[in-house]
Parts: sequence; C-alpha cells; structure tokens
Amino acid sequence: MVAKRTSLVTGAGQGIGFAIARALGVAGDRVILLDLDQNKIDAAAESLRAEGIDALGAVADTTNRGQIQAVMDAEERIDTVVTAAGVYWDRKLADLTEDDFRKMMEVNLIGTFIAAQEGIARMTTGGRVVTISSRGALGGTRFAHYVASKAAVVGLTRAFAMELRGTGITVNSVAPGFTDTPMTRSAPEEMFEAWSKLEPAGRAADPSEIASAVVWLASPEAAFVTGQTLFVDGGKSLGGLGI
Ligand code: NAD
Repeated sequence: MVAKRTSLVTGAGQGIGFAIARALGVAGDRVILLDLDQNKIDAAAESLRAEGIDALGAVADTTNRGQIQAVMDAEERIDTVVTAAGVYWDRKLADLTEDDFRKMMEVNLIGTFIAAQEGIARMTTGGRVVTISSRGALGGTRFAHYVASKAAVVGLTRAFAMELRGTGITVNSVAPGFTDTPMTRSAPEEMFEAWSKLEPAGRAADPSEIASAVVWLASPEAAFVTGQTLFVDGGKSLGGLGI
C-alpha cells in the first residue's frame, strides 16, 4: 500500500488556499491547513473533516520561521507544500512607498521562501512544492509592489527547481487570474462585476479551478515537470488582438 501523503497549504483559511487544501484532501492526502487566525483555521479544518478528509488546522505566520518549523516538526512527514498565503492592496505609482514594497515582499516573497525551504528540508523520497504566484507577475496598473512580489515568486520557483533537479522534488508555480475569493470580494460589488467583465469568459475563476491545477502539479504524474509557471486565467494572459 502506498503511504498517505501529507500536504501543507499556507493561507488555507479561505479562498484559493482553502480550495487547494480541500482538493488535495479529496485526492487522498492528509492536509495541514495553515493560516494566521485560530478561529478561521479551526472552522476551515473542521469543515473538511466533516467531508471525511484527514485535515488539521495550524496557526502560524509564514514570515515567522520558528512558527513554520513548529507546525512542520509536529508532522511525521511532509510531502507537499503549497504556498497560497499572500496579501494584496492597491497603490498607484505616485503614492507607492518603500514600506508598501517591504510589507508586500515580506509576505508574498519571504513567507513563500520560508515555507518552501522548510518543507523541502523535510522531504525524503521526492516531494512537491507549488507556489501561488499570479497573472499579475506579467504586469498591472496601480500595484507595482504586488507585481514585483509575484514576479519574484516566479523567479524563486525557477531557482529552487534548478537547484533540486534530479532529486525527485519538483517546484512549480500556479499563476491564477482574477479569482472569486474573499480577497477580490473585499472590493465594492460594482468593481468586482466590472473586473469580471474584463475576463475572456466574463467571469472570475472559481477557486476550485485553481486548485485542480495545483493537485496535478502535486501528483506523482507531474514528476517530470519542474520550474514551470502554469497560468490558470481563462486565457487572459495570452494578450494579442481580438476579443
Ligand atoms: P485571501 O485573502 O482570500 O486568502 C489569503 C489567506 O492567506 C487568508 O486567509 C490570510 O489570512 C492568509 N495569510 C495572509 N498572510 C499570511 C501569513 N503571513 N501567514 C499565514 N497566512 C497568511 O486571498 P486569495 O484570493 O485566496 O489568494 C490566495 C493567493 O492567491 C495569494 O497569494 C494571492 O496573491 C494569489 N492570487 C489571488 C488572485 C485572486 O484573484 N484572488 C489572483 C492571483 C493570485
């Protein structure tokens, strides 16, 4: 019998991270859901257990190495780490400050780095890291700090993948387009609707559509894929002419 894999998902209290944890659980993994808030993560893990998934909630800040180590040390094995914890806020070019960049980089890049590195250190017979970058890595207006942080996640993914070539550990990224989550729902309803209309399909992605790409990259079947960034955005990133 193949041993059950343990997958740890950061930012799993809601949105894309939660959908990923659920999908990995449905695929048969034990899932560790990690997020900042005790009540939120307890409720998220409980809802998965109610579906029959082997799920555990853990409170930790991805920017705090000691907290991430403590969560991982409590597990017998770590096979997959998915880094969905991330933050976003608007700031147009003229108003951006060093502080905007530092805070954005701290969570989106350094938090990703810590969780990925600590997970990799515990992977014994192969393993999977899937980072969550963003279509925003390609560019965007009014959020250069977010764009830079997500482009950096793509770079980190490629560099880690190169360093781990031949080890059985793969490192890939999923770059979601506009997705229906508490993050995007925090905008006024009319903004959410306007952004949805800008998408090729006229709608936001459902978090489960992002999760299914992650499940594949985390699977044994994706063993020969590493260092890649898979855009899951309904084709919007293709650009070009035409509607
Ligand atoms: P969300 O805000 O709905 O959920 C993010 C979760 O991450 C929250 O539960 C939050 O508490 C947690 N988190 C934040 N900082 C953390 C930290 N330091 N340590 C632990 N947990 C932390 O966001 P979402 O829309 O589900 O986005 C998830 C990821 O996908 C993010 O990295 C985001 O940048 C990326 N993304 C989202 C979209 C989108 O349209 N929603 C598009 C592209 C990329």
